[in-house]
Amino acid sequence: MSKKHIPRKRFGQHFLHDPSVIQQIISAINPQPNDIMAEIGPGLGAITQHILPKVNRLDVIELDRDVIPELIANCDHSEKLFVHQQDALRYDFSELTEKPASLRIIGNLPYNISTPLIFHLLDQANIIKDMYFMLQKEVVARMAALPGEDAYGRLSVMVQYYCEVDYLFTVKPGAFTPPPKVDSAIIALRPHQQLPHAASDETLFADVVRTAFNHRRKTLRNCLKEYVNEAMWLQLNIDPVLRPEELGVKDYVDITNAIRLNLK
Ligand code: SAH
Repeated sequence: MSKKHIPRKRFGQHFLHDPSVIQQIISAINPQPNDIMAEIGPGLGAITQHILPKVNRLDVIELDRDVIPELIANCDHSEKLFVHQQDALRYDFSELTEKPASLRIIGNLPYNISTPLIFHLLDQANIIKDMYFMLQKEVVARMAALPGEDAYGRLSVMVQYYCEVDYLFTVKPGAFTPPPKVDSAIIALRPHQQLPHAASDETLFADVVRTAFNHRRKTLRNCLKEYVNEAMWLQLNIDPVLRPEELGVKDYVDITNAIRLNLK
């Protein structure tokens, strides 16, 4: 841990210091020399310095310019390290690769940007091979939740549409400096090479899912009345008195595709 840099709340800085947690993360990722890998928010390099010896090149995206000199020093000025001083929310990951399913992304993410960042990355899911993130445990639970579970919602449907989701392990606040107020967890997201259920219009799909979960306690009939009429519910063979939280990804895709057909 640095004696110089004072962690900044504004940048969501909680630096990992527990060596056993760091080792667990590295073995889960299992970096290979030729991997095309990017780390979001490397901070002072707690994870970075353990990845570098295993790969030929590592690109990191870090917003806080003040941590970068120490990051570089902690990585022994490695020539394999490429630092992009940028906001990951705006970073165009296709700068790193154009090859489908090639990019590996890792990050102990600032919790305040985790959801928008995941959506930003899902937009570019076709180039991504896998992603390993440390997130607030509740957010990980939401991404991995199945229909009917309390944590199930818009984030679960959207993430599971694009990715296979694996909840790996929980990390206690004591592993960080300063300790966050909540438990954290590591999640693995692997974008489907071929979507198991493809929506004919992904913008419409995202709109339908957002609209449905705006009122998760109402019936589907009520939530989606601007999109779906009674005849369509019958055709879809979905009971419109169900709640949005009871439908799976495939149901939302079916609804979207039916709406799309109806619009034509
Ligand atoms: N990976 C390090 C640091 C985690 S703290 C570790 O595990 O110790 C989160 C890091 O993300 C900080 O370094 C913070 O400056 C950086 N960060 C915050 N917002 C960011 C953004 N929008 N884009 C890129 N990096 C960001």
